[in-house]
Amino acid sequence: MPRLNAKQTAAVTLALDEFEATVRAAMRAALLESRQGGGEGGVHDLGEEAIADELAAVNSSLAERHGQELLQAVQARLRLVEGSAGICTECDGAIGYPRLLANPVALRCVSCETRHEYTHAHAAMPRL
Ligand SMILES: [Zn+2]
Repeated sequence: MPRLNAKQTAAVTLALDEFEATVRAAMRAALLESRQGGGEGGVHDLGEEAIADELAAVNSSLAERHGQELLQAVQARLRLVEGSAGICTECDGAIGYPRLLANPVALRCVSCETRHEYTHAHAAMPRL
């Protein structure tokens, strides 16, 4: 039975709280870092400008990832409320309580996740 009991739901909720706190802390750190980099002094030469551009690109992709992670956390909370947490979105099997504790935003069981990552990685590859 894939559904979580009350005790497990509470533990996964705690894990989600921690997950969100980690994401928010990383967002704050990235924000502070980008302010320090672009703040006093600014960009002096072309070399520094290139580095600043690269940093900005890294920061925006980081921000995008953090946004995605927070969204995943919100969706995971919804699944906890609905009672669908712990059920694989692909095969309706059990995700597994230990896996959910380690990764409270997990959507799939280990075997579906492995297959998803494999097909996803291939789809993302440029076809030239
Ligand atoms: Zn599955």
